[in-house]
Amino acid sequence: MTSDCLFCRIVAGEIPATVVHETDATLAFRDIAPKAPVHVLVVPKAHYADVAELAKADPALAGQVLAAGAAVADAEGLTQDGFRVIFNAGEHGGQEVFHVHAHVLGGRPLGPMVS
Ligand code: IMP
Repeated sequence: MTSDCLFCRIVAGEIPATVVHETDATLAFRDIAPKAPVHVLVVPKAHYADVAELAKADPALAGQVLAAGAAVADAEGLTQDGFRVIFNAGEHGGQEVFHVHAHVLGGRPLGPMVS
């Protein structure tokens, strides 16, 4: 828990979020500014700044984040038509919140991946 981290505070229940999936190690909640009909963020409950840091420190936990993302996609009915999972990392990746999170997006055709 990092007290000045927005997503640590959501994990701690200090900031409200619409939680759609939870495991011992992960939490998934709806993005506050959705870019698609379904836009869910999946975070590890432990604080890691970005996907590179997470994968290096705890690859098993990185796998749990991906598995949670797949479970969310299934629960949200995205599996048949498809969906996208994105990790933004660092300045060029467009990361704004420095607690690693997977974006799970779907519910419409998403178009080209890179803008
Ligand atoms: P990033 O650019 O990959 O870091 O994505 C950060 C995401 O967090 C953006 O899609 C924001 O809309 C989302 N976000 C910011 N604050 C909140 C919040 O309080 N609840 C849920 N999502 C948030």
